[in-house]
Amino acid sequence: MKKILLIQPRPPESIWTLKVSCEIAKVSALTAPLGLATLAALTPSQYDVQIVDESVESIDFDIDCDLVGITGYTVHSERMIEISKEFQKRGVLTVAGGAFCSSHPQVAQEHFDVVVKGEAERIWGQFLEDWDSGDFKSFYEEPGKIDLLNDPSPKPRWDLVKSDRYMVHAVQTTRGCPYNCEFCDVVSLFGQKSRHKTVEQVIEEVKDLAKRDVIEIFFADDNFIGNKKYAKSLLRALIELNATLKISLRFITQATLNCAEDEELMDLFKRANFFAMFVGIETPSHESLKSANKQHNMRIDMVQSVRNIQKRGILVVSGMIVGFDTDDIDIFEAQKEFIMKSGLVVPMVGMLMAPKGTRLWDRLEKENRLEGPEVGDSFKSTNIIPKLMSKEVMVKKYLELLEVIYSDDFFRKTFKIMMEQIDVDAIRKESAVANALSPRRAHFRLTMLGLRIVRSYLFSSKTDRKLMFDILSMSIRKSIFCIPLGMSALIFFKSNATFFKTQSYTLEDNSPQPEIAAASVAEATALR
Ligand code: SF4
Repeated sequence: MKKILLIQPRPPESIWTLKVSCEIAKVSALTAPLGLATLAALTPSQYDVQIVDESVESIDFDIDCDLVGITGYTVHSERMIEISKEFQKRGVLTVAGGAFCSSHPQVAQEHFDVVVKGEAERIWGQFLEDWDSGDFKSFYEEPGKIDLLNDPSPKPRWDLVKSDRYMVHAVQTTRGCPYNCEFCDVVSLFGQKSRHKTVEQVIEEVKDLAKRDVIEIFFADDNFIGNKKYAKSLLRALIELNATLKISLRFITQATLNCAEDEELMDLFKRANFFAMFVGIETPSHESLKSANKQHNMRIDMVQSVRNIQKRGILVVSGMIVGFDTDDIDIFEAQKEFIMKSGLVVPMVGMLMAPKGTRLWDRLEKENRLEGPEVGDSFKSTNIIPKLMSKEVMVKKYLELLEVIYSDDFFRKTFKIMMEQIDVDAIRKESAVANALSPRRAHFRLTMLGLRIVRSYLFSSKTDRKLMFDILSMSIRKSIFCIPLGMSALIFFKSNATFFKTQSYTLEDNSPQPEIAAASVAEATALR
């Protein structure tokens, strides 16, 4: 039997890896590798398949295998190439796919024996047949988009994944997004039509995870509400499913902020037990939203929208950007004011980055305004040359903004504002506290996680302890049902603040220009 090893390399540490949260929860990585588990499920049973996620285990380069499949985003590319070299040295064929290969097919072909561009569902089987016959190509491309309703989309092989090493598991319900923001590569990778699986299939995947004792699921969609009617049907099915489970599952996803306009949709999110939602707010500046083609945020009252989500006890994890062409130095103050006014406790502010494959990259390339590699981390560097300020000024002002928004006092104030908005009745029913108190739904692991968060602060510095007690007391004063929300906010804050305070910030990733160290900022308020 031919042996296939599927690998996802470890990503460089970033704000998205939530390292501190994972340490507190005593897991090795945030999200289980849905792509690998799906590819394994697409592999016919005549092959022996193994999965290695380097975030939670090391790679045995001398393992007995005939083929290595490596997947990753552009941030993984360096490590993907290193891994490929090691296996090629040992005479093992390497095949690469994923977002990096789709946006950089030519570069990828220099480093892997076989490159797959586009979605894998149809091509993977085709490649395996060719490989079996001994007559395979070095480049495969999916010319269209996978039809998630009719193309094969088997349940991911979670049995091959070390589930206990992850904070959350992932289920994908849709691909694509009906919008087309200039800086985003979702449309070039997955298209503007929101394609979805059947509700029944998603529920089967969720049930499969529930059987494996998973309690937190990330719906890894580009935009969960890309097709609102479908999203509502799915949410209703999740509510029904949760009512039958001994332990209610908790969910997190990504959606556009205009979800908050639809009261019925928001109530369904709450009743289905969503505890957080990543939304792209980007900027309070209407000029900048317009320049980024993010008009759907201009048509709503964004402050009110954030409040409408958070009042239900759903944390808004907000993607925000500085450095649009219409941004001058006033944008930093405007971002700070917006965060405070809306009570955003998990702001994720980055600098504008132009990834290859986006319309922004194409435009800035023509304008000669790209500088440095596009593989960088937008929370530490940028590859664009800003229009209304120098890059040096942008980075300096950006760091000053992070220093403020990731300070304990700022967090306390935004948390207080969020608490003032909470509708206790709305959150009481599905609260993790209610679950923990109910014998039918004894929620041991979530309770343990809460206790771990408290313990990590208790054994930390005096300022950390004070922050934890302040958040706890503000939560309890509102209602004991707000404790899980307070703990979730605290764990996000600690991860973000620690990441910021322990990084070095550069004008561009590979430039010899002087580093602007965040260390001095860190020393003042460091979380230890
Ligand atoms: S709404 Fe979000 S996912 Fe859709 S194009 Fe804009 S940034 Fe990308």
